[in-house]
Amino acid sequence: MSCIFDIAVVGAGPAGASAAISAAQNGQRVLLLEAGNFPRHKVCGEFVSAEALELVEKLLASDSLVKAAPRIFVARMFVDGRLVEFPVRPAAASIPRYDLDPAFWRAARAQGVECSAETRVQAVRRVPSGAFSIETQAVDFAARAVINATGRWSNLSATVAALDQPRSIGLKAHFFETGAAPSCDLYFFDGGYCGVQPIAPNLVNVSAMVRAEVARTLEGVFAQNPRLQERSLAWSPAAPRVSTAPLIFRETTTSLDGVLLCGDAAAFIDPFAGDGISMALHSGSLAAASLNLFLRGDISLEGAIKHYAERHRTMLQPALRNAAQLRRLLHLPRLLRGAALSLMSLSPIARLAVHQTRARTSEAA
Ligand SMILES: Cc1cc2nc3c(=O)[nH]c(=O)nc-3n(C[C@H](O)[C@H](O)[C@H](O)COP(=O)(O)OP(=O)(O)OC[C@H]3O[C@@H](n4cnc5c(N)ncnc54)[C@H](O)[C@@H]3O)c2cc1C
Repeated sequence: MSCIFDIAVVGAGPAGASAAISAAQNGQRVLLLEAGNFPRHKVCGEFVSAEALELVEKLLASDSLVKAAPRIFVARMFVDGRLVEFPVRPAAASIPRYDLDPAFWRAARAQGVECSAETRVQAVRRVPSGAFSIETQAVDFAARAVINATGRWSNLSATVAALDQPRSIGLKAHFFETGAAPSCDLYFFDGGYCGVQPIAPNLVNVSAMVRAEVARTLEGVFAQNPRLQERSLAWSPAAPRVSTAPLIFRETTTSLDGVLLCGDAAAFIDPFAGDGISMALHSGSLAAASLNLFLRGDISLEGAIKHYAERHRTMLQPALRNAAQLRRLLHLPRLLRGAALSLMSLSPIARLAVHQTRARTSEAA
């Protein structure tokens, strides 16, 4: 361990990239370690909510990716043969993870972050000095503080708990489709849902979250909803298929053994809320801001951990709770679900539902 970093960030998805870039912008010496490589396709609906877009531009120090992205003005839910529309105001954007994640990686490098891909962290330990040892197969690193942004499920996850929960898997692919409307279309069925939205002219992203016993392939998912099945007949593949498992909802945890957790590593918001990327970006920059107070000597590391936990609680957790409630509603018996959906089709309630599942970014200042 020849040198000590101020902050080591593990995982370079939106949360880790945001944490690393924000910390570097605060003047810190930052290490970013990523198990995989870029570019790569990733299971995601690729709906980037308006609450995230300003931060995306700030982190990338450029507005070109956001400006070029198709806009999404409405979310349409196809449930039990009904259609419920939710206006998305301000509009969201459609940005493939194949483009977004490498853009963050390049921006981190440009900010002076020391970036290492294909480097899986095997363990993080606190050493007697109070600093951390970050162990990889090839080399160990040292840092004064560590952020775990390894996503929903990794070898560094806080728990292997909740395995008795119903197991869901995530599936995704890009397909050619002509003339898709600028909307995020969510097709629900018993055991899951599938989102379809345009990501470029004549190209749609299709991503599903489905119980493993209901379907294990996209074709199996399409067969669950007649409108989706009909729409999918016109599609031809445009990118390799990817999948992920398990998709499990756990209690929010913002730190573990002195390490701050952010993005999905802290809490996994229901994907249909379309706010996971936003939550990841905001939690990453909040974690960096709290650690900045520690690194400049204003508070202890324990103080920074509490500071981050409080900001996560007030800014991000209301959206998590509200999204979980909406999910429960969609699992009500059909008759009750119909009544709830009729209520939600009233436009003030639809607007409120979208608002309530968003990070409270205005409270960030
Ligand atoms: C089906 C589905 C649809 C979704 N749709 C949307 C959507 O439309 N809009 C939206 O906003 N959100 C959506 N989400 C959620 C969104 O994808 C996540 O919330 C977001 O990717 C979280 O970012 P993250 O940085 O926390 O984690 P990730 O993006 O998962 O990044 C974690 C990174 O850590 C790396 N890593 C893991 N372990 C290690 C290790 N030991 N050492 C080093 N690196 C490691 C991984 O390789 C990965 O690159 C969806 C999710 C699913 C499952």
